[in-house]
Amino acid sequence: MMLEEPSEVVEIRESVARLCGSFPGEYWRKLDREGAYPSEFVTALTEAGFLSALIPEDYGGAGLPLSTAAAILEEIQKAGCNGGACHAQMYIMGALLRHGNEDQKQRYLPGIAAGDLRMQAFGVTEPTSGTDTTSIKTFARREGSHYVINGQKVWTSRAEHSDLMLLLARTTPKSDVGKKTDGISVFIVDMREAIGNGLTIKPIRAMMNHATTEVFFDDLKVPAENLIGEEGKGFKYILSGMNAERILIGAECIGDAKWFIDKMTGYARERVVFGRPIGANQGIQFPIAEVYAQMRAAELMVRQAAALFDAGENCGAEANMAKMLAAEASWKAADTCIQTFGGFGFAEEYDVERKFREARLYRVAPISTNLILSFIGEHVLGMPKSY
Ligand SMILES: Cc1cc2nc3c(=O)[nH]c(=O)nc-3n(C[C@H](O)[C@H](O)[C@H](O)COP(=O)(O)OP(=O)(O)OC[C@H]3O[C@@H](n4cnc5c(N)ncnc54)[C@H](O)[C@@H]3O)c2cc1C
Repeated sequence: MMLEEPSEVVEIRESVARLCGSFPGEYWRKLDREGAYPSEFVTALTEAGFLSALIPEDYGGAGLPLSTAAAILEEIQKAGCNGGACHAQMYIMGALLRHGNEDQKQRYLPGIAAGDLRMQAFGVTEPTSGTDTTSIKTFARREGSHYVINGQKVWTSRAEHSDLMLLLARTTPKSDVGKKTDGISVFIVDMREAIGNGLTIKPIRAMMNHATTEVFFDDLKVPAENLIGEEGKGFKYILSGMNAERILIGAECIGDAKWFIDKMTGYARERVVFGRPIGANQGIQFPIAEVYAQMRAAELMVRQAAALFDAGENCGAEANMAKMLAAEASWKAADTCIQTFGGFGFAEEYDVERKFREARLYRVAPISTNLILSFIGEHVLGMPKSY
């Protein structure tokens, strides 16, 4: 597979890198300290059109392929910024694009593309179900022209900074369906109207500044016209977006790994101890070379998964492997970077400890490494389901 990209993608990469240059380490350090949201950064990305890359031109977007969206996110991470503040807008939109009706697309997509509406929140995970998504308990009951929603989500990132949430809820109890993936539906919740009228958002203080929250639904009324696709078929709609999510997160991890590698090779060349650069010692040089090779291999898998996705081919195995390999490579790069910096790796001013905390997330979310391994074991290698 060729790694060379078309010149338009190279130009997009360069302009993302230029934009990110206006948001240096001190910008992110201050936000991290204050637990604040990078509004200026997200606005700049929106105004430059990068966040609407995947919206078709008919709805005001750029109509670019997933591989270009992946390049955008990779550049953001490679520049030391954090796409986690807004990346969901790229991948959750797929449910609306692929399964929404024309009225829903007209209602939301042009506003999202113009930057007047933010669709950043994705409510899937619940405290009692965790990874076992079909066991979610949040329930939407049809009452005339509305659904009435009760339940709770956890780790709903960016809910306080988003106008719209894509919500997964049961519309038939698990005990009443033949197949556990049936009876789950997807809704667009307009949080501007919902907050204080059945929707409560509580921030969670976490290891990194990820604007994540708990969300409570207490008789929240959502118009039936906000149901995406057919009632009860939502699990399928969400699954179809997961490959895109995995590829995009994989690309972000590649960007992170490149940031760490760049940072540590620079430091290894310059830091002199015992009268020589520490990078002259194989104990420092070899782990960096090893993680570089690991990153390049993962990068190939991310690009292959994106190419398959863009060609409309089945990319489930590649998307999962890409996300896992890239997350492992970025974590290994993060750990090696701290080791290379020694004590200074722990000092806030080098940004290494912040990126280290941020990079750790992707071995757990949006899908943990174990669940990817079990996907490969079962669906690629044909072994028995392990759970
Ligand atoms: C900062 C942050 C942001 C997030 N943002 C969002 C968001 O915006 N929207 C959203 O819906 N969710 C979000 N999540 C949730 C995230 O997707 C989940 O944390 C993740 O899917 C794992 O689920 P869990 O935490 O419930 O772990 P659990 O399901 O409780 O699993 C715990 C551990 O057990 C392992 N495990 C469980 N079952 C098995 C098995 N059968 N075999 C082997 N190992 C197993 C898992 O791999 C994991 O390591 C976010 C999480 C974090 C931390």
